[in-house]
Amino acid sequence: MSRPFYNVNGPQGDGMACVLCGADFLKDKITSVEVGHNPLDDGSVYACKEPCARLLAEDAERMALEMRVVAGLDDVDVPVGDDDPVFCVDGHFGSLLRDLRTLAGTEALLATSDDNTTIRFLLSLTARHAETAMMRARLVLARTKPGARDGDA
Ligand SMILES: [Zn+2]
Repeated sequence: MSRPFYNVNGPQGDGMACVLCGADFLKDKITSVEVGHNPLDDGSVYACKEPCARLLAEDAERMALEMRVVAGLDDVDVPVGDDDPVFCVDGHFGSLLRDLRTLAGTEALLATSDDNTTIRFLLSLTARHAETAMMRARLVLARTKPGARDGDA
């Protein structure tokens, strides 16, 4: 596996313990799966199949999504409510969902980063998207207030 795990050492770095929860594979009867490698010696590192490997896989999916959003490659499905422009993909609600997804992806990246430059970049990303998410949430709240709609009242 190509994913590097920088923060592991001891039994975790040697592949003898789960990189996520630290479970001892020698002592406990746990099904483990390879989830990446230790960049220090290129050895494989492992995680409990359930739930740790599943959580890592979900993190990786969130990261991939976040990278697509950041890179402007975001063509993922956004739930569409009705024809109200607030809820359409290009409306405030769609943008809000993208902000929230970016924040979720940033959280996953922050949890696995130990490089100061990366962390600072992720924190600036968090600040920006948290701010726009707040504004968009307020806009959607204002637009969806009972009586505020001028269409099908
Ligand atoms: Zn585990």
